[in-house]
Amino acid sequence: MNRSDFPCLNVKVHNKPLVYFDNAATAQRPQSVIDAIKNYYEQTNANVHRGVHQLSSDATDLFEQARISMAKLLNSPSEKNLIFTRGCTEGVNLVAQSFVRSQIKKGEEIIVSEMEHHSNIVPWQLVCEQTGAVLKVLPFDDNGELEIEKLDELITDKTRFLAVVHASNSLGTINPIKQIVEKAHAKGVHVLVDGAQATAHLNIDVQDLDCDFYTVSGHKMYGPTGIGVLYGKMEHLESMPPYHGGGEMISHVTFEKTVYNAVPAKFEAGTPNIAGAIGLGAAADYILQHGIENINKADSELLHYATEKMQKVDGLRIIGTAKNKVSVVSFTLEGVHPHDLGTILDHYGIAIRTGHHCTMPAIKHFNVPATARASFAFYNTKDEIDYFIKSLEKAREMFL
Ligand code: PMP
Repeated sequence: MNRSDFPCLNVKVHNKPLVYFDNAATAQRPQSVIDAIKNYYEQTNANVHRGVHQLSSDATDLFEQARISMAKLLNSPSEKNLIFTRGCTEGVNLVAQSFVRSQIKKGEEIIVSEMEHHSNIVPWQLVCEQTGAVLKVLPFDDNGELEIEKLDELITDKTRFLAVVHASNSLGTINPIKQIVEKAHAKGVHVLVDGAQATAHLNIDVQDLDCDFYTVSGHKMYGPTGIGVLYGKMEHLESMPPYHGGGEMISHVTFEKTVYNAVPAKFEAGTPNIAGAIGLGAAADYILQHGIENINKADSELLHYATEKMQKVDGLRIIGTAKNKVSVVSFTLEGVHPHDLGTILDHYGIAIRTGHHCTMPAIKHFNVPATARASFAFYNTKDEIDYFIKSLEKAREMFL
């Protein structure tokens, strides 16, 4: 578990060493992930699950091995519970359209939380438009902690589904998923957890969480972009209609009737992102090899170090002060618009994100138009944080 495993951290921007604090948008990839993709294209490039020839069989082995690595990472009961997707966005849309839309009726309810990423809001709004179902919102308090007790009245006998983020990308809050799932299941409501920001920082055990669905984006956990997995309980995956039709997801086709393939192939129509899946498997192996508890310890330490220092910067307000956070710090700096701040920091070589972070309702809660966000990974350093704090102070002086 080494900073030197990540080649892109060595680049310079504006002639300054890169300080990469935009890990919540996308993390960097270790050499092992880059090599896995390169090796596949150089040595094993063939389509999967089709050819009788050696190369196709080798490519299929690598592709399926990646599913096994992801199953280990999530403690899935079997790799067959995992569907390769393009990422969390596709995972949520798949569940919304296949599982929820096919069952929900007019006037029935879906609950999301106030801190969801747009990708865990809009797919549910689409289902509501298509079916006449109603979207309800679980609020959070001014620290950015979900008001879980409100679930008791929010969940009614009309509630059919609840979708909630494991760790917020704009506030950093880690939500008590087990407790939420217990409350929902007690009333017969199924739960999807958006794990986009969790897999790079937290130990994920889908069996212990007991959630019905869990979505993962590869690029947030040191893997490639455009690939992820959706975990689902087998009883649901087996009962759900396919999401996309095409090759690979069938076992027999006639013009009169098509018999679908078994799970997970039923949900993987067309030639998949083979290199991406292999890269994702390598990212899972990287985390498994180095231990998520070591990764978590390192990035939590950076979070606490940065939070303490940032609290001392004049005019700086941290947005999202939950007790349990992943290493994400959203903030505003008095007198400096977040976009200007982002541009100034960029000139110092520091990459942060500014804006609403695809969580407009969560940002609106704090009555600010936008925030700046620094998000850390275990490979960041305290020296980088010190440099960031000095740069923040310089930026503030410019606007005084
Ligand atoms: N949920 C959260 C909390 C996220 O941070 C993101 C990515 N910013 C997503 C969902 C969507 O992930 P992707 O774009 O990889 O599908």
